Amino acid sequence: MKLLFEQCPSQSPQVLPPCDIPQQEVIPLPAQLGRKNPPRLPQMSESEVARHYTALAQQVFGVGSGFYPLGSCTMKYNPKINEQVAALPGFTGIHPLQPEETMQGCLEVLALAEQYLCEITGMDAMSFQPAAGAHGEYTGLLLIRAYHLARGDHKRTNIIVPDSAHGTNPASAVMAGFQVINVASGPDGCVDLEKLQAVCDENTAGLMLTNPNTLGLFEKDMTAIAEIVHEAGGLVYYDGANLNPIMGVIRPGDMGFDVIHLNLHKTFSTPHGGGGPGSGPVGCKEFLAPFLPVPYPVSREGSLVLDGERPQSVGKVRSFYGNFLVVVKTLCYLLRLGAQGIPEAAKHAVLNANYLKQGVAKDYDVAIDMPCMHEFVLGLGDLKKETGVSAMDVAKAMLDHGMHPPTMYFPLIVPEALMFEPTETETKETLDEAIRVLAEIRKTASENPEVLHGAPHHTAVRRPDEVQAARHPVLRYRWED
Ligand SMILES: *Cc1c(COP(=O)(O)O)cnc(C)c1O
Repeated sequence: MKLLFEQCPSQSPQVLPPCDIPQQEVIPLPAQLGRKNPPRLPQMSESEVARHYTALAQQVFGVGSGFYPLGSCTMKYNPKINEQVAALPGFTGIHPLQPEETMQGCLEVLALAEQYLCEITGMDAMSFQPAAGAHGEYTGLLLIRAYHLARGDHKRTNIIVPDSAHGTNPASAVMAGFQVINVASGPDGCVDLEKLQAVCDENTAGLMLTNPNTLGLFEKDMTAIAEIVHEAGGLVYYDGANLNPIMGVIRPGDMGFDVIHLNLHKTFSTPHGGGGPGSGPVGCKEFLAPFLPVPYPVSREGSLVLDGERPQSVGKVRSFYGNFLVVVKTLCYLLRLGAQGIPEAAKHAVLNANYLKQGVAKDYDVAIDMPCMHEFVLGLGDLKKETGVSAMDVAKAMLDHGMHPPTMYFPLIVPEALMFEPTETETKETLDEAIRVLAEIRKTASENPEVLHGAPHHTAVRRPDEVQAARHPVLRYRWED
Protein backbone atom coordinates (compact mmCIF):
# COMPACT_ATOMS: atom_id res chain seq x y z
CA MET A 1 0.00 0.00 0.00
CA LYS A 2 1.31 3.42 -0.98
CA LEU A 3 1.96 6.14 1.55
CA LEU A 4 0.23 9.47 1.12
CA PHE A 5 3.53 10.97 -0.02
CA GLU A 6 3.83 8.38 -2.72
CA GLN A 7 0.24 8.64 -3.87
CA CYS A 8 0.42 12.32 -4.62
CA PRO A 9 2.82 13.62 -7.23
CA SER A 10 2.21 17.29 -6.49
CA GLN A 11 4.05 18.26 -3.37
CA SER A 12 4.57 21.47 -1.42
CA PRO A 13 1.21 22.97 -2.22
CA GLN A 14 0.05 26.37 -1.08
CA VAL A 15 -1.78 25.15 2.01
CA LEU A 16 -2.26 28.61 3.45
CA PRO A 17 -3.20 31.86 1.72
CA PRO A 18 -0.37 34.38 1.42
CA CYS A 19 0.41 36.13 4.72
CA ASP A 20 -1.11 39.62 4.82
CA ILE A 21 0.33 40.87 8.11
CA PRO A 22 3.90 42.01 8.72
CA GLN A 23 6.09 39.11 9.86
CA GLN A 24 7.61 39.43 13.32
CA GLU A 25 10.77 37.61 14.27
CA VAL A 26 10.26 37.47 18.03
CA ILE A 27 13.08 35.04 18.77
CA PRO A 28 15.25 34.51 15.70
CA LEU A 29 15.58 30.81 14.89
CA PRO A 30 19.20 29.57 14.91
CA ALA A 31 20.18 29.08 11.27
CA GLN A 32 21.14 25.42 11.68
CA LEU A 33 17.60 24.58 12.83
CA GLY A 34 15.96 26.02 9.73
CA ARG A 35 14.81 23.85 6.82
CA LYS A 36 17.03 23.68 3.82
CA ASN A 37 14.14 22.74 1.53
CA PRO A 38 10.43 23.39 1.84
CA PRO A 39 8.44 20.46 3.35
CA ARG A 40 7.21 17.94 0.77
CA LEU A 41 3.59 17.82 1.77
CA PRO A 42 1.23 16.03 -0.56
CA GLN A 43 -1.70 17.96 -1.93
CA MET A 44 -4.80 15.87 -1.44
CA SER A 45 -8.48 16.31 -0.82
CA GLU A 46 -10.05 15.46 2.52
CA SER A 47 -11.89 12.50 1.01
CA GLU A 48 -8.68 11.03 -0.41
CA VAL A 49 -7.02 11.28 2.99
CA ALA A 50 -10.06 9.76 4.71
CA ARG A 51 -10.01 6.84 2.25
CA HIS A 52 -6.33 6.28 2.85
CA TYR A 53 -6.79 5.96 6.60
CA THR A 54 -9.90 3.81 6.22
CA ALA A 55 -7.94 1.45 3.96
CA LEU A 56 -5.15 1.31 6.55
CA ALA A 57 -7.65 0.55 9.32
CA GLN A 58 -9.15 -2.24 7.22
CA GLN A 59 -5.80 -4.01 7.10
CA VAL A 60 -5.65 -4.29 10.86
CA PHE A 61 -7.07 -7.27 12.70
CA GLY A 62 -8.69 -6.35 15.99
CA VAL A 63 -11.18 -7.74 18.45
CA GLY A 64 -13.81 -5.96 16.35
CA SER A 65 -12.81 -7.95 13.25
CA GLY A 66 -13.12 -11.51 14.49
CA PHE A 67 -12.17 -14.19 16.99
CA TYR A 68 -9.19 -13.03 19.01
CA PRO A 69 -7.96 -15.79 21.34
CA LEU A 70 -4.63 -14.21 22.32
CA GLY A 71 -3.62 -15.75 25.65
CA SER A 72 -2.42 -14.15 28.90
CA CYS A 73 -4.03 -10.93 27.81
CA THR A 74 -7.74 -11.15 28.37
CA MET A 75 -8.18 -9.06 25.25
CA LYS A 76 -11.90 -9.29 25.79
CA TYR A 77 -14.41 -7.15 24.06
CA ASN A 78 -14.52 -3.89 25.98
CA PRO A 79 -18.03 -2.44 26.11
CA LYS A 80 -18.19 0.91 24.35
CA ILE A 81 -20.17 2.56 27.16
CA ASN A 82 -17.05 2.46 29.34
CA GLU A 83 -15.20 4.56 26.77
CA GLN A 84 -18.12 6.97 26.53
CA VAL A 85 -18.25 7.48 30.29
CA ALA A 86 -14.47 7.93 30.51
CA ALA A 87 -14.74 10.61 27.82
CA LEU A 88 -17.18 12.78 29.83
CA PRO A 89 -15.72 16.30 30.23
CA GLY A 90 -16.12 16.10 34.01
CA PHE A 91 -13.49 13.37 33.98
CA THR A 92 -11.26 14.52 31.15
CA GLY A 93 -11.25 18.21 32.08
CA ILE A 94 -9.92 18.02 35.63
CA HIS A 95 -6.47 19.19 36.52
CA PRO A 96 -4.52 16.98 38.92
CA LEU A 97 -3.61 19.97 41.07
CA GLN A 98 -7.17 21.26 41.39
CA PRO A 99 -8.32 21.84 45.01
CA GLU A 100 -9.84 18.68 46.45
CA GLU A 101 -13.23 20.27 47.13
CA THR A 102 -13.66 20.86 43.38
CA MET A 103 -13.04 17.23 42.41
CA GLN A 104 -15.11 15.30 44.92
CA GLY A 105 -16.75 13.28 42.12
CA CYS A 106 -13.42 12.07 40.79
CA LEU A 107 -12.21 11.18 44.27
CA GLU A 108 -15.44 9.28 44.77
CA VAL A 109 -14.64 7.25 41.63
CA LEU A 110 -11.34 6.25 43.21
CA ALA A 111 -12.92 5.49 46.58
CA LEU A 112 -15.77 3.43 45.09
CA ALA A 113 -13.50 1.49 42.74
CA GLU A 114 -11.25 0.76 45.71
CA GLN A 115 -14.20 -0.44 47.77
CA TYR A 116 -15.53 -2.75 45.03
CA LEU A 117 -12.15 -4.18 44.05
CA CYS A 118 -11.31 -4.79 47.72
CA GLU A 119 -14.62 -6.62 48.02
CA ILE A 120 -13.76 -8.73 44.94
CA THR A 121 -10.20 -9.54 46.03
CA GLY A 122 -10.76 -9.84 49.80
CA MET A 123 -8.31 -7.03 50.54
CA ASP A 124 -8.72 -4.01 52.85
CA ALA A 125 -7.07 -1.15 50.95
CA MET A 126 -5.91 -0.41 47.41
CA SER A 127 -3.80 2.17 45.59
CA PHE A 128 -4.36 3.03 41.94
CA GLN A 129 -1.00 4.69 41.45
CA PRO A 130 0.90 1.92 39.60
CA ALA A 131 0.55 2.30 35.83
CA ALA A 132 0.80 -1.37 34.80
CA GLY A 133 0.98 -4.92 36.12
CA ALA A 134 4.75 -5.06 36.50
CA HIS A 135 4.66 -1.64 38.16
CA GLY A 136 2.06 -3.00 40.60
CA GLU A 137 4.29 -5.99 41.37
CA TYR A 138 7.16 -3.66 42.11
CA THR A 139 4.96 -1.53 44.39
CA GLY A 140 3.57 -4.60 46.18
CA LEU A 141 7.09 -5.85 46.80
CA LEU A 142 8.03 -2.45 48.23
CA LEU A 143 5.18 -2.93 50.73
CA ILE A 144 6.57 -6.35 51.71
CA ARG A 145 10.02 -4.88 52.12
CA ALA A 146 8.77 -1.90 54.15
CA TYR A 147 6.81 -4.27 56.41
CA HIS A 148 9.86 -6.40 57.29
CA LEU A 149 12.10 -3.38 57.76
CA ALA A 150 9.51 -1.64 59.99
CA ARG A 151 9.70 -4.69 62.27
CA GLY A 152 13.48 -4.46 62.34
CA ASP A 153 13.75 -7.73 60.39
CA HIS A 154 16.64 -6.98 58.02
CA LYS A 155 17.64 -10.42 56.83
CA ARG A 156 14.58 -11.12 54.67
CA THR A 157 16.15 -10.67 51.25
CA ASN A 158 14.60 -13.53 49.27
CA ILE A 159 11.47 -13.69 47.15
CA ILE A 160 10.34 -17.15 46.08
CA VAL A 161 8.99 -17.39 42.53
CA PRO A 162 7.64 -20.67 41.07
CA ASP A 163 8.75 -21.40 37.50
CA SER A 164 5.14 -21.22 36.29
CA ALA A 165 5.01 -17.53 37.28
CA HIS A 166 4.65 -14.75 34.79
CA GLY A 167 8.06 -13.49 33.63
CA THR A 168 7.58 -10.08 35.18
CA ASN A 169 7.52 -11.59 38.72
CA PRO A 170 11.24 -12.36 39.04
CA ALA A 171 12.11 -9.15 37.18
CA SER A 172 10.08 -7.03 39.62
CA ALA A 173 11.60 -8.82 42.62
CA VAL A 174 15.09 -7.94 41.38
CA MET A 175 14.04 -4.34 40.71
CA ALA A 176 12.76 -4.10 44.29
CA GLY A 177 16.17 -5.23 45.57
CA PHE A 178 15.38 -8.87 46.38
CA GLN A 179 17.10 -12.08 45.48
CA VAL A 180 14.93 -14.51 43.47
CA ILE A 181 14.64 -18.11 44.60
CA ASN A 182 13.07 -20.37 41.97
CA VAL A 183 10.92 -23.39 42.72
CA ALA A 184 10.21 -25.92 39.98
CA SER A 185 6.61 -27.03 39.35
CA GLY A 186 5.50 -30.61 39.85
CA PRO A 187 4.37 -32.85 36.95
CA ASP A 188 0.84 -31.45 37.31
CA GLY A 189 2.12 -27.94 36.48
CA CYS A 190 1.47 -26.68 40.02
CA VAL A 191 3.80 -25.65 42.87
CA ASP A 192 5.52 -28.62 44.51
CA LEU A 193 4.89 -28.18 48.25
CA GLU A 194 7.93 -30.14 49.37
CA LYS A 195 10.23 -28.11 47.16
CA LEU A 196 8.59 -24.96 48.45
CA GLN A 197 9.06 -26.01 52.06
CA ALA A 198 12.74 -26.66 51.35
CA VAL A 199 13.44 -23.08 50.19
CA CYS A 200 11.50 -21.29 52.98
CA ASP A 201 13.65 -19.98 55.81
CA GLU A 202 14.43 -16.90 57.90
CA ASN A 203 15.60 -15.09 54.75
CA THR A 204 12.24 -15.46 53.02
CA ALA A 205 10.62 -12.07 52.53
CA GLY A 206 7.74 -13.54 50.56
CA LEU A 207 6.43 -15.58 47.67
CA MET A 208 4.85 -14.37 44.44
CA LEU A 209 2.20 -16.61 42.99
CA THR A 210 0.66 -16.22 39.55
CA ASN A 211 -2.81 -17.69 39.67
CA PRO A 212 -4.11 -19.07 37.41
CA ASN A 213 -0.50 -19.91 36.55
CA THR A 214 0.93 -19.43 33.08
CA LEU A 215 -0.37 -22.84 32.03
CA GLY A 216 -3.89 -21.57 32.73
CA LEU A 217 -4.21 -23.90 35.73
CA PHE A 218 -5.59 -23.07 39.13
CA GLU A 219 -2.92 -23.70 41.76
CA LYS A 220 -4.59 -26.45 43.73
CA ASP A 221 -2.79 -25.87 47.04
CA MET A 222 -3.35 -22.15 47.49
CA THR A 223 -4.00 -22.13 51.21
CA ALA A 224 -1.20 -24.62 51.92
CA ILE A 225 1.25 -22.48 49.93
CA ALA A 226 0.24 -19.39 51.93
CA GLU A 227 0.56 -21.30 55.20
CA ILE A 228 4.05 -22.63 54.43
CA VAL A 229 5.33 -19.14 53.58
CA HIS A 230 3.61 -17.49 56.57
CA GLU A 231 5.04 -20.16 58.83
CA ALA A 232 8.53 -19.09 57.73
CA GLY A 233 7.67 -15.44 58.47
CA GLY A 234 7.24 -14.37 54.84
CA LEU A 235 4.29 -12.69 53.14
CA VAL A 236 2.38 -13.97 50.13
CA TYR A 237 1.78 -11.98 46.98
CA TYR A 238 -0.96 -12.81 44.48
CA ASP A 239 -0.32 -11.87 40.85
CA GLY A 240 -3.91 -11.11 39.94
CA ALA A 241 -3.23 -9.79 36.44
CA ASN A 242 -5.63 -12.43 35.16
CA LEU A 243 -8.43 -12.13 37.68
CA ASN A 244 -11.01 -12.75 34.96
CA PRO A 245 -11.69 -16.48 35.76
CA ILE A 246 -12.04 -16.05 39.53
CA MET A 247 -13.59 -12.61 40.03
CA GLY A 248 -16.69 -12.81 42.14
CA VAL A 249 -16.16 -16.54 42.68
CA ILE A 250 -13.24 -16.83 45.11
CA ARG A 251 -11.12 -14.19 46.85
CA PRO A 252 -7.32 -14.25 47.19
CA GLY A 253 -7.67 -12.46 50.55
CA ASP A 254 -9.68 -15.40 51.87
CA MET A 255 -6.99 -17.85 50.76
CA GLY A 256 -4.38 -16.16 52.95
CA PHE A 257 -2.82 -13.71 50.50
CA ASP A 258 -1.49 -10.43 51.89
CA VAL A 259 -0.84 -8.38 48.75
CA ILE A 260 -2.28 -8.44 45.23
CA HIS A 261 -2.04 -6.49 42.03
CA LEU A 262 -4.68 -6.41 39.32
CA ASN A 263 -4.35 -5.49 35.68
CA LEU A 264 -7.33 -3.26 35.05
CA HIS A 265 -6.21 -3.22 31.41
CA LYS A 266 -6.66 -6.98 31.18
CA THR A 267 -9.60 -7.85 33.36
CA PHE A 268 -11.57 -4.67 33.93
CA SER A 269 -12.29 -3.26 30.52
CA THR A 270 -9.48 -1.22 29.11
CA PRO A 271 -8.15 -2.33 25.74
CA HIS A 272 -4.44 -2.88 26.07
CA GLY A 273 -3.17 -3.43 22.57
CA GLY A 274 -0.86 -0.65 21.48
CA GLY A 275 0.83 -0.24 24.81
CA GLY A 276 -1.37 1.70 27.13
CA PRO A 277 -2.56 3.38 29.18
CA GLY A 278 -2.69 0.70 31.83
CA SER A 279 -3.40 0.46 35.51
CA GLY A 280 -1.96 -2.03 37.98
CA PRO A 281 -3.56 -1.23 41.34
CA VAL A 282 -2.08 -2.82 44.44
CA GLY A 283 -4.35 -4.13 47.17
CA CYS A 284 -3.31 -5.28 50.62
CA LYS A 285 -4.51 -6.36 54.00
CA GLU A 286 -5.05 -3.78 56.75
CA PHE A 287 -1.63 -4.30 58.37
CA LEU A 288 0.12 -3.27 55.13
CA ALA A 289 -2.10 -0.26 54.38
CA PRO A 290 0.17 2.30 56.15
CA PHE A 291 2.88 1.49 53.58
CA LEU A 292 0.72 2.19 50.48
CA PRO A 293 1.87 4.97 48.13
CA VAL A 294 0.84 8.60 48.78
CA PRO A 295 -1.34 10.48 48.16
CA TYR A 296 -4.09 8.15 49.32
CA PRO A 297 -7.76 9.22 49.19
CA VAL A 298 -9.43 9.15 52.60
CA SER A 299 -12.75 10.35 53.94
CA ARG A 300 -12.54 13.24 56.40
CA GLU A 301 -15.47 15.15 57.89
CA GLY A 302 -17.84 14.08 55.17
CA SER A 303 -15.61 14.81 52.20
CA LEU A 304 -12.81 13.04 50.41
CA VAL A 305 -9.28 14.33 50.72
CA LEU A 306 -5.92 13.16 49.43
CA ASP A 307 -3.77 12.16 52.36
CA GLY A 308 -0.14 12.88 51.60
CA GLU A 309 1.06 12.60 55.20
CA ARG A 310 1.49 8.90 55.77
CA PRO A 311 4.83 8.53 57.55
CA GLN A 312 5.29 4.82 56.76
CA SER A 313 4.33 5.11 53.08
CA VAL A 314 6.74 3.77 50.45
CA GLY A 315 6.24 7.18 48.79
CA LYS A 316 5.12 7.97 45.29
CA VAL A 317 5.52 5.40 42.55
CA ARG A 318 3.92 7.54 39.87
CA SER A 319 2.63 11.08 39.42
CA PHE A 320 -0.72 11.99 41.00
CA TYR A 321 -3.25 9.10 41.19
CA GLY A 322 -2.14 6.85 38.33
CA ASN A 323 -4.09 6.50 35.10
CA PHE A 324 -7.37 7.83 36.39
CA LEU A 325 -9.50 7.31 33.27
CA VAL A 326 -8.72 3.59 33.32
CA VAL A 327 -10.24 3.51 36.82
CA VAL A 328 -13.34 5.30 35.48
CA LYS A 329 -13.79 2.53 32.88
CA THR A 330 -13.31 -0.10 35.56
CA LEU A 331 -15.94 1.42 37.80
CA CYS A 332 -18.37 1.70 34.90
CA TYR A 333 -17.75 -1.98 34.05
CA LEU A 334 -18.22 -3.07 37.66
CA LEU A 335 -21.43 -1.09 38.08
CA ARG A 336 -22.92 -2.44 34.87
CA LEU A 337 -22.11 -6.07 35.62
CA GLY A 338 -22.86 -5.86 39.32
CA ALA A 339 -22.63 -8.60 41.92
CA GLN A 340 -24.42 -11.02 39.61
CA GLY A 341 -22.66 -10.21 36.35
CA ILE A 342 -19.08 -10.33 37.64
CA PRO A 343 -19.09 -14.03 38.63
CA GLU A 344 -21.17 -14.82 35.54
CA ALA A 345 -18.47 -13.32 33.29
CA ALA A 346 -15.81 -15.33 35.16
CA LYS A 347 -17.72 -18.59 34.79
CA HIS A 348 -18.39 -18.03 31.09
CA ALA A 349 -14.69 -17.30 30.51
CA VAL A 350 -13.77 -20.62 32.15
CA LEU A 351 -16.52 -22.51 30.34
CA ASN A 352 -15.50 -21.10 26.95
CA ALA A 353 -11.83 -21.99 27.49
CA ASN A 354 -12.68 -25.55 28.52
CA TYR A 355 -15.11 -25.97 25.62
CA LEU A 356 -12.46 -24.84 23.12
CA LYS A 357 -9.80 -27.01 24.80
CA GLN A 358 -11.97 -30.12 24.55
CA GLY A 359 -12.79 -29.29 20.96
CA VAL A 360 -9.18 -29.02 19.80
CA ALA A 361 -7.79 -31.80 22.02
CA LYS A 362 -8.72 -34.41 19.40
CA ASP A 363 -6.29 -32.83 16.92
CA TYR A 364 -3.56 -31.32 19.12
CA ASP A 365 -1.73 -32.14 22.37
CA VAL A 366 -2.82 -30.10 25.37
CA ALA A 367 0.28 -29.26 27.46
CA ILE A 368 -1.33 -30.40 30.71
CA ASP A 369 -4.69 -31.93 30.13
CA MET A 370 -6.60 -30.87 33.20
CA PRO A 371 -9.62 -28.61 33.48
CA CYS A 372 -8.29 -25.13 32.78
CA MET A 373 -9.31 -21.68 33.92
CA HIS A 374 -9.65 -18.84 31.39
CA GLU A 375 -6.93 -20.15 29.05
CA PHE A 376 -5.06 -23.30 28.08
CA VAL A 377 -1.81 -24.22 26.38
CA LEU A 378 -1.22 -26.59 23.46
CA GLY A 379 2.21 -28.15 22.99
CA LEU A 380 2.91 -28.83 19.32
CA GLY A 381 6.34 -30.45 19.82
CA ASP A 382 5.20 -33.82 18.45
CA LEU A 383 3.32 -32.26 15.56
CA LYS A 384 6.51 -30.49 14.54
CA LYS A 385 8.52 -33.72 14.73
CA GLU A 386 5.94 -35.61 12.67
CA THR A 387 5.05 -33.06 10.03
CA GLY A 388 7.55 -30.20 10.30
CA VAL A 389 4.65 -27.85 11.02
CA SER A 390 5.45 -25.48 13.89
CA ALA A 391 3.30 -23.57 16.36
CA MET A 392 4.14 -20.48 14.28
CA ASP A 393 2.78 -22.15 11.10
CA VAL A 394 -0.50 -23.09 12.79
CA ALA A 395 -0.89 -19.62 14.31
CA LYS A 396 -0.23 -17.90 10.98
CA ALA A 397 -2.63 -20.22 9.16
CA MET A 398 -5.44 -19.08 11.44
CA LEU A 399 -5.10 -15.58 9.96
CA ASP A 400 -6.14 -16.95 6.57
CA HIS A 401 -9.40 -18.06 8.22
CA GLY A 402 -10.13 -14.61 9.66
CA MET A 403 -8.98 -15.47 13.18
CA HIS A 404 -6.29 -13.84 15.23
CA PRO A 405 -3.52 -16.23 16.34
CA PRO A 406 -3.20 -17.28 19.96
CA THR A 407 -0.12 -16.32 22.00
CA MET A 408 2.89 -18.17 20.57
CA TYR A 409 5.89 -19.71 22.29
CA PHE A 410 4.67 -18.79 25.78
CA PRO A 411 4.94 -20.08 28.45
CA LEU A 412 8.57 -21.04 27.90
CA ILE A 413 8.21 -24.30 29.83
CA VAL A 414 6.16 -25.83 26.95
CA PRO A 415 7.92 -26.53 23.62
CA GLU A 416 6.01 -25.16 20.57
CA ALA A 417 3.41 -23.59 22.84
CA LEU A 418 0.17 -22.02 21.69
CA MET A 419 -1.86 -20.34 24.41
CA PHE A 420 -5.57 -19.76 23.76
CA GLU A 421 -7.81 -17.46 25.72
CA PRO A 422 -11.25 -17.13 24.14
CA THR A 423 -12.81 -14.96 26.94
CA GLU A 424 -16.41 -14.84 28.05
CA THR A 425 -17.75 -12.73 25.21
CA GLU A 426 -17.41 -15.38 22.47
CA THR A 427 -20.45 -17.35 21.37
CA LYS A 428 -20.63 -21.13 21.04
CA GLU A 429 -20.89 -20.66 17.24
CA THR A 430 -17.58 -18.75 17.17
CA LEU A 431 -15.87 -21.41 19.28
CA ASP A 432 -17.26 -24.19 17.05
CA GLU A 433 -15.93 -22.39 14.00
CA ALA A 434 -12.49 -22.05 15.66
CA ILE A 435 -12.50 -25.80 16.42
CA ARG A 436 -13.41 -26.53 12.78
CA VAL A 437 -10.66 -24.25 11.47
CA LEU A 438 -8.03 -25.78 13.75
CA ALA A 439 -9.09 -29.29 12.68
CA GLU A 440 -8.73 -28.26 9.04
CA ILE A 441 -5.26 -26.83 9.70
CA ARG A 442 -4.28 -30.06 11.45
CA LYS A 443 -5.40 -32.03 8.37
CA THR A 444 -3.39 -29.76 6.09
CA ALA A 445 -0.36 -30.30 8.35
CA SER A 446 -0.42 -34.00 7.49
CA GLU A 447 -1.41 -33.72 3.84
CA ASN A 448 0.30 -30.59 2.61
CA PRO A 449 2.59 -29.01 5.23
CA GLU A 450 4.21 -26.71 2.63
CA VAL A 451 1.03 -24.64 2.45
CA LEU A 452 1.29 -23.92 6.17
CA HIS A 453 4.95 -22.93 6.04
CA GLY A 454 3.91 -20.13 3.67
CA ALA A 455 0.86 -18.96 5.67
CA PRO A 456 -0.72 -16.46 5.91
CA HIS A 457 -1.53 -16.23 2.21
CA HIS A 458 -4.35 -13.69 2.29
CA THR A 459 -3.25 -10.90 4.63
CA ALA A 460 -1.80 -7.53 3.67
CA VAL A 461 1.46 -8.35 5.43
CA ARG A 462 2.60 -11.96 5.54
CA ARG A 463 5.47 -12.92 7.85
CA PRO A 464 7.32 -9.85 8.99
CA ASP A 465 10.77 -10.36 10.45
CA GLU A 466 9.77 -9.76 14.04
CA VAL A 467 13.34 -9.48 15.35
CA GLN A 468 14.21 -6.91 12.68
CA ALA A 469 11.01 -5.01 13.40
CA ALA A 470 11.74 -4.86 17.13
CA ARG A 471 15.46 -4.13 16.90
CA HIS A 472 15.57 -1.89 13.84
CA PRO A 473 12.16 -0.27 13.50
CA VAL A 474 11.78 1.92 10.46
CA LEU A 475 9.74 4.83 11.74
CA ARG A 476 10.64 7.50 9.22
CA TYR A 477 10.03 7.80 5.54
CA ARG A 478 13.18 8.47 3.57
CA TRP A 479 12.96 10.10 0.18
CA GLU A 480 14.99 8.48 -2.51
CA ASP A 481 16.18 11.77 -4.02
C1 LIG B 1 0.37 -9.29 31.85
C2 LIG B 1 0.80 -9.87 33.10
C3 LIG B 1 1.70 -9.17 33.94
C4 LIG B 1 2.35 -7.85 33.57
O1 LIG B 1 1.44 -6.81 33.35
P1 LIG B 1 1.87 -5.51 32.52
O2 LIG B 1 0.72 -4.58 32.64
O3 LIG B 1 2.13 -5.96 31.12
O4 LIG B 1 3.12 -4.95 33.16
C5 LIG B 1 2.01 -9.75 35.15
N1 LIG B 1 1.53 -10.95 35.51
C6 LIG B 1 0.68 -11.65 34.72
C7 LIG B 1 0.17 -12.98 35.18
C8 LIG B 1 0.29 -11.15 33.49
O5 LIG B 1 -0.53 -11.85 32.70
